[in-house]
Amino acid sequence: MDGDRFDSFARSWAAGSRRRLLRGLAGGLAVAVAGGARLAAPNKVGAQAGDICGPSDVVCVWPETPQECCAPGYVCTSRKVCCQPDRIPCGGSPGSHACCCDPGQGETCNPAFDANPDSGAQCCIQSKLKITQLKLNDIDDKTLQYLSAAPHTYFGGNTRVHGTITVVGAKTDRLTDVVLEVLQGGSVVARGQLDPKARSTLLTAFGPKETIKIAKSKLLFNIPSSELGNIDGSANGNLTLRVRAISQDEGETTKDFGAVALLVRYTNGNRYGGRDEKVGGDDWVKPSVKAVLEHFPGLTWGDMSNMNGGKFKPHKGHQNGQEADGWFAGYNARNAATAQTIIGHLNDATHGSRIAKVFVTYSASPCDVFCKAITGVTLDDGRRAIDVIRPVSGHGTHFHWNVSP
Ligand SMILES: [Zn+2]
Repeated sequence: MDGDRFDSFARSWAAGSRRRLLRGLAGGLAVAVAGGARLAAPNKVGAQAGDICGPSDVVCVWPETPQECCAPGYVCTSRKVCCQPDRIPCGGSPGSHACCCDPGQGETCNPAFDANPDSGAQCCIQSKLKITQLKLNDIDDKTLQYLSAAPHTYFGGNTRVHGTITVVGAKTDRLTDVVLEVLQGGSVVARGQLDPKARSTLLTAFGPKETIKIAKSKLLFNIPSSELGNIDGSANGNLTLRVRAISQDEGETTKDFGAVALLVRYTNGNRYGGRDEKVGGDDWVKPSVKAVLEHFPGLTWGDMSNMNGGKFKPHKGHQNGQEADGWFAGYNARNAATAQTIIGHLNDATHGSRIAKVFVTYSASPCDVFCKAITGVTLDDGRRAIDVIRPVSGHGTHFHWNVSP
């Protein structure tokens, strides 16, 4: 062992034994937390709610991180106060009074206490700030059921979320921001910002009515592609939406909207027709459906679903990210050869069984040449071709697939 290595070995051994000694002492120093503000107790290990932690806590300053100064179940917050993870710290300059307030119970820091923690003012006060009404809608102002959750170029690269919202707060308080949070697997993965018009309506003083609202559904949030890129679109799933309102005096409050299904964008180049920019594009599908559409060579695709799914005129369907219009060379003849090509798709070993319905314009009665070519045919998965390939008008120049998710 050379001199340097010996030195570092001796230091780490000494630190370890000192830590053990101090942890033992901390047990004896533990004090019951009485709910209100408590005098900060710096320089101790195992600090609990309202105790000071962080670099000022010289006992813990080396080699532990500041978080290790708080007892298990507490975190060292930005104000260098130990709090439970779901609480907000109030007061808390070293050597001063501090406490932890529970936003889940509508508590917030008393500004008078924050301004002077030694004033004797109450630490937590009941917040008036609350989102009392929230509805999130699709771009056609119907309840949001799906979210276009992948980068794109429509509406300047923004996924739009419409809706209505009511926030109440104290007369003298004002809203400083309202944010849409997109959660996946319990974590916030993307954020939407207020559209400028909604921003000018909402970010104002609560005033005598103590209420700020948008009562008629309109564009509320834009989620930019830079945020959408953080969402994992590799598998079907739900995203949870939550709105966070932030005020000048009372901090923050949230309201959950609930779950929506995620849609991803079909990005391959084998497309026909326009891209329906005004309805947020026509590229939106469920992840498992995207894999099916990408799989078949020789096909080109038209409309899928529009932004956030839902009504897509003039279609009856195309609402859930599972339907697509397609075309292949020779389709328009709708003859025996056309029928064979479609039967070939349905017999595809990888994805044929995922094609639940095919709409084609043909005559079933009297049974025309296309009808005769599919009659009596049993598909490889046991379905009857005539049950899957259905006669539907308006499909003379393209077919329609309904794909199982
Ligand atoms: Zn269609």
